Amino acid sequence: MALPSSTGLLLRGVSLPAGDTSPADECPAATRRAQATCSAPATLMRILRHLVWAMLLTECAGAATSAPLRGSASPHPNIVLITLDTTRADRMGFLGSERGLTPNLDALARQAVVFSRAYAQVPLTTPSHATILTGTYPQFNHVNYMGDPLGKAVPFLPDILHRNGYRTAAFVGALALEPRRLAPGFERGFDIYDAGFHRRGPREDRYHSLERRGEEVVSRSLAWLSKRPAGPFFLWVHLYDPHDPYDPPEPYKTRYQAEPYDGEIAYSDAVVAKLLAGLRTRRLFDSALIAVMADHGEAFGEHGENHHGIFLYDETIHIPLLIKAPGQHAGKRVETRVGLVDVAPTILRTANLPIPAAVQGESLTSLIKSHPAGASDQPNDSNGQVPVYAESGYGHLSFGWSKLQAWRTSKYLYIEAPERELYDQSADPLATHNLAADSKAVADTVAGQVAEFYAKTKREATENTKLDLQQSESLHALGYMSSESGTSSGADKESGADPKLKIGIANLLYQALVHMQNEQYQEAVPILEQVLEQEPNTPIALLQLGRAYMAVKEYQKAVTPLRNLVEKKPDDAFARYEFGCALVKTGNWEEAAPQFEAAVFQNSGSAMMHFYLALVYQRTSRVGEAAKEFQSALRLDPDNFPANLLLGRLLVMQQRAAEALPYLRKATRLRPDSIDAHHFLADVYAEMGQPVNAHRERAEAERLKSEGGSRLGTPKEDSGDVSKQR
Ligand SMILES: [Zn+2]
Repeated sequence: MALPSSTGLLLRGVSLPAGDTSPADECPAATRRAQATCSAPATLMRILRHLVWAMLLTECAGAATSAPLRGSASPHPNIVLITLDTTRADRMGFLGSERGLTPNLDALARQAVVFSRAYAQVPLTTPSHATILTGTYPQFNHVNYMGDPLGKAVPFLPDILHRNGYRTAAFVGALALEPRRLAPGFERGFDIYDAGFHRRGPREDRYHSLERRGEEVVSRSLAWLSKRPAGPFFLWVHLYDPHDPYDPPEPYKTRYQAEPYDGEIAYSDAVVAKLLAGLRTRRLFDSALIAVMADHGEAFGEHGENHHGIFLYDETIHIPLLIKAPGQHAGKRVETRVGLVDVAPTILRTANLPIPAAVQGESLTSLIKSHPAGASDQPNDSNGQVPVYAESGYGHLSFGWSKLQAWRTSKYLYIEAPERELYDQSADPLATHNLAADSKAVADTVAGQVAEFYAKTKREATENTKLDLQQSESLHALGYMSSESGTSSGADKESGADPKLKIGIANLLYQALVHMQNEQYQEAVPILEQVLEQEPNTPIALLQLGRAYMAVKEYQKAVTPLRNLVEKKPDDAFARYEFGCALVKTGNWEEAAPQFEAAVFQNSGSAMMHFYLALVYQRTSRVGEAAKEFQSALRLDPDNFPANLLLGRLLVMQQRAAEALPYLRKATRLRPDSIDAHHFLADVYAEMGQPVNAHRERAEAERLKSEGGSRLGTPKEDSGDVSKQR
C-alpha cells in the first residue's frame, strides 16, 4: 500500500482519535526538556481544531518543512533502530576502546554521528526502552520496573509512525521486552512484534525460552524485510546478548574465554554487521536513518555494583549512541550531552512528523546538521552542556531503599541520595571522590536543579496502570513481585536506606535469582537466607525462599518466609496463594482456606484462584462452598478441565446426577484420554438410568486403563498438588 501524500500524512498526524494526543499537543515546541504536560482549555481546543490548516502552515510547518537531513531522498525515510542490551560505552572502538571488539560498529560510526556523551535515563531494560520509544522520562511514562504497563496516553514512537503510514516491526531478543509478560503495552503500533518468550521449561535451553541469540533476531528481521509490504518502514532490532549470563557462541567463546562479556560485545558487533549487510543488499542502507544505542551499560564491581539496575554512575548510564542520517556518508562527533530520551523526537523530526508536546526529549537533528562532516562540536558550559537526568527506582521497588536520581551538569555528576554525592568528572572521571560535603554550595545548587527538573517533568499516573490478571500471573510465574510503582503517586518521596550502604545485598539477590531461574534451588536457598538476614523486609527474597523450599520439597521450611511475605504484603493475591500452597503441602488445610479466600477476594477475576479455593473447601468438607467456587472458576474459564471434572464428581456424590452430566460430558470432550472423566460419566449415566451410555463410558475407561491412559488432571493428582498448575 502506497504512503499517503505528505499533506494527508500531516493532516492525519493532527487529526487523532478522541482521547489521544490532541491537535494542540502536536505543535513542536522550541524546547521540551522542561515541559511536563501541555493542556489547553476546552474552548481554545475547539478553536484550535478549526485552525488545523493554519497550524500546518505555521507552527507545525516548523517540523513539516524543516529540510530533511542532507541527502535524504524521501521525506519519510526508512528507520532502523538497533538497541544493544547492557553495552558499555567504553567497549566501543568509536568511543576510544582499544580492545578491538567493534570493527563493524566503528565502520558505521565513520559515516554516522557519534554522540560521545550519551546517557541512559534508567539502567533497566524495560524502563530504558520505554524512554527510548516514548521520548519521555520514567517519572512521566511510569514504566519503572519490568512488567509496568506502558499507558496508552503516553506518546509512543512506533504508534505515531504507524499512524502516519509506516510499516512497523519489532524483533526483540528477550523476555524483558515480551509484551505478554514484562513489557505490556510495547506492542502498540507494531504490525509485527516478534517475541514469543516464556519461562524456561525443564528441558529447554535459555536461547529457546528466555532469550534468543542475536543472529536469530537478525535473520528474522531480514526475512521480514524481504517480504514487507510497500511503504516506509520502522524496524526495531534488539540484541540481548551482552546481558548476563555472558555466554557468547563460538568462536567468541574461545577467543574471549577470559572476558566473556567482551566476547558478547564482539559477537553483537558481528551480528549488527549482518543486519547492515542485509540492508545494503536490499539497497536500503544509504537512504535509511540508522540509530544504534545501548539501553544501559554494565557494572563490574565499580562502586560495588555487579550488573546494573541500582546505581547511576557512568558504567551503567554512559551508553554508546550513533545515528546515521539518511544519505549521510561522513562521520561526525557530537560532544554535547544527550539522553536516550532524545532518540524518539530525533526520529520523528527526521521522518518529518510533528513531535507531540508530551514528548520530553529534544530532537538532535540540529546537532546532527550544525557541524560540518568530520568536525566535532566543542561544547562549553554555556552552549552545549545540557544537563542530563537519570534515575533508579529499582532499589526502592525491590528492597525499600531510597530512590536515586542523577544529574550530569557542566563538569559535575550529582547523585541525589540520603548521603548525596558530587563528583567533578573533569578531574575524576571514575567518580571516586565525593565532593558533596566539601562543596556544599555547589551541591545545594545542583540539588535544587534536580528537584525543579523532576517536579516539572513528572506526571501523576492518571490511567489505571495496574497489571491485568494475565500479566500479574506471568510476572509472578517468572519470580517477580508486582511493583506498585504504576499506582504510586508519591514517587518522589521514595525514601529509605542509602543503596550505597546496601549494594552487597543487591548483588547477592541477583545471584539468587539467577540460581532460581536455572532451577538450582539448593544453591539459591543459602543466598536468599543471607539476604534476609541482612534485609528481612525484602518481599522478593521471601517469595523466592518460599518457592525454593517448595521446589526442594521442604514444605515446612517454606511456611515461615511465606507467612512473613503475607504479613508484609497482605493485599498481594499471589503472596496469599503461595502461602496457601505451603499450608496445603504441610497438611494445614484449615489454615489454608482463609489464605485462598483472601486471594480470591483480591483477585476475583482469576479462575485459578477460585479453583484452588474450591479444592480447599472440598478437602475441608465445605461441599456447598466448593461447588460455588468451581462454578466461579468455570464462569471465568469454561474449558478448565479439572474444574469441570471435579464439579461433576462433587455433584454426583451429592446425588445430583442430572446437574453433573454437562460438566462430565465436557470433561470427556476436553480430555478424551482421562480415565476418571469416563468413569464418573459412567456413574452419572447409571444413576440416571441410562445403562447403555453407562456401559459405553465404563468400557472406554477400561480401554484407556489397559492402554495406560492418562490420569493427569484427575482428582487425586490435582487435589494432592495444588501448586502444580503454576
Ligand atoms: Zn537492558
